[in-house]
Amino acid sequence: MESKAEENTQFVKSKDFLVKTNGGKTLSDVLAAEKTVVMLINKDSLHLAESFDHHEMIKEDLKNGGFAWTYCDKTRVLLVHYKKETVLEVRALGVQAIETLRERKISEVTIYIPQKSDFKLSHTFIQSFMMWNYRFELKTIGGISLLTEINLAFEEELTENLKREVECLIVMVKSCLFARDVQNTRANIATCQYMEDLIKATIEGCDKVTECTVIKDKELLEQNFNLLYNVGKGSTIPPRCITCLYKGNPDEDEVHIAIVGKGVVFDTGGLNIKATGVMEDNFSDKGGACVTLAALKGIIELDLKINVVFAFGITENSVDAESYRPSDIITSKKGLTVEIMNTDAEGRLVLADVLWHVYETYKPTYCVDLATLTGTIITALGSNACGVFTNDDEFVEEFIQAGKEVNEQAWHMPIFDDHKEDILNDVSDLRNMGDDRKGHSSRAAAFMEHFVGEGTKWIHADIAGPTYLDSAIPPMPKYCTGFATQTVLSLLRKKSKS
Ligand SMILES: [Zn+2]
Repeated sequence: MESKAEENTQFVKSKDFLVKTNGGKTLSDVLAAEKTVVMLINKDSLHLAESFDHHEMIKEDLKNGGFAWTYCDKTRVLLVHYKKETVLEVRALGVQAIETLRERKISEVTIYIPQKSDFKLSHTFIQSFMMWNYRFELKTIGGISLLTEINLAFEEELTENLKREVECLIVMVKSCLFARDVQNTRANIATCQYMEDLIKATIEGCDKVTECTVIKDKELLEQNFNLLYNVGKGSTIPPRCITCLYKGNPDEDEVHIAIVGKGVVFDTGGLNIKATGVMEDNFSDKGGACVTLAALKGIIELDLKINVVFAFGITENSVDAESYRPSDIITSKKGLTVEIMNTDAEGRLVLADVLWHVYETYKPTYCVDLATLTGTIITALGSNACGVFTNDDEFVEEFIQAGKEVNEQAWHMPIFDDHKEDILNDVSDLRNMGDDRKGHSSRAAAFMEHFVGEGTKWIHADIAGPTYLDSAIPPMPKYCTGFATQTVLSLLRKKSKS
């Protein structure tokens, strides 16, 4: 490991919390030992409310679903009743429970999960609860108070399987919160160098990451990453392509899947500069790389038995005399020539070279790229789903299903023949935009499909909508959300079983 990673130990991190898990706990154990308990109740466990004084009143309060506070000696108990027993209801209750605890400035809590609790619903509650116990703030005065310790107490004895499920849930949520922290970190701190250092710090000490390669600055030109190099050459901090090989299954040589992230640490738009009002949030344009990094952190913690390459196209799109220009014709790493129609359509250029490099080097069976690629995908799908494009319908279904299991939505979008034609050009093989914004997200996907190697099943996830929110969609907070981190980890888990 280079010394840089050690030097830069002060990575921005929001307030963390400890999670402990225990099984085989009776209600009286928990009430005797803890100060604040959140108890989950469904129709099969509503009778447990009778364990408390004034239970007739409590039951009345809980009848329509929701909350009731009660006391048992010195223990404060927040009873949470799922009435409708839907994911949406339970997610909302997880968020409200955090708000209720926050109002009382509680820092430590035990969630009691009685036997017969629905597995999916209690996991959804815990997921939502932990995801809402988050705030990114670099305040030196004041600031929000969050829970610092969450104990999960299950009534049933935890089998190995159940223990693993709970562990996965915690790692996935924590990875998502990590992605938020990195993505929220502003470009004056989270430079291209910072991203490199953070990637190195993340894999430090993990012997399953058998390779970490950084190609940067002029080395990019030597190895024909001309698109990536040109996007980044207006910045004082050079661009880089970083790959980390996680070899979780040493019995196999091949790389099963590649996860590729767009990491534009700040996107001014380049010479086609963005206007005031739409430039300020462009520190979040590294969202794909943040999800990729968070998934790498997660897979190390989960110790999955699968070979995955994680690849990052890291650059800044700046304005400078050195900046690449609209009308430049640049030869990609693959050899296809590309005319630059607009320097703000840089994400597909970055990914084109990185995708081709990943194919040439690792020949993965599957490949998922993640990018905050187009504003038009937000017009199409809104802020609570990503758009997914593919060359393999079965793989995209698997991705969408992996997302559903962690309550993240993805929608299969098309790449029609006319989208493919729209990015062909007269003076070069390709151009990085069509004549207008019609079908812009699909055209971007059609562009990138040229750089996916033969035989690789590929998904492009355009996460521009849900990755950054102007107002919260609980449990996704305002600003950066870490969206897709849990989907990717859920997908990797599925793939590692097969
Ligand atoms: Zn851009």
